[in-house]
Amino acid sequence: MSRRASEEVKHREARFKRVVATEADASRLLERPGDIAIVERGVPRLLVMKCPDDCGDTLRINLDPRTSKAWKIYRDVDGLSLFPSVWRDTGCESHFIIWGDNIYWSDSRDRTYKRIHDPALRAAVHEELDGSVFQSAVEVADKLGLVPWSVSAILDALVHEGEVERRLFDRERRYRLSQGGEPAADR
Ligand SMILES: [Zn+2]
Repeated sequence: MSRRASEEVKHREARFKRVVATEADASRLLERPGDIAIVERGVPRLLVMKCPDDCGDTLRINLDPRTSKAWKIYRDVDGLSLFPSVWRDTGCESHFIIWGDNIYWSDSRDRTYKRIHDPALRAAVHEELDGSVFQSAVEVADKLGLVPWSVSAILDALVHEGEVERRLFDRERRYRLSQGGEPAADR
């Protein structure tokens, strides 16, 4: 269990230092929990970060889909985001997401704090949905060039409002427009 599960602090700043060429260069830049450097040689290779959970470990997160399971980084006006979540199965076992220069622990409920009331963004997400095909937040985000965390926050808000239906397929949440009349599926 994450040590942070019952604590007050639910998120902390992710401090992106800069892009470097080697892992050794990245490690040298990391001072405090939540510090991040990205190793890039032609393409993003690795995100190196000081574990945000105060355990002192340095985490290596693969960004290169040619080598193995890879995460994807997004950099936009809100800052750095990483998808999907990071879930350590060793050490402190912390489970968190990085979204818009913030780190949110998986038990945190405050990560839907922003953008879900942005009418233009909501309209854009709504526009990508249809009434028959279930799509994942990643699929919708890719079409719109948005961070999946933002899209899933909007989708979950639309589910809550009954506009959108959500189902689990192989443990992945997928969404389509609600079929008229029926209450939206939840969880
Ligand atoms: Zn840790």
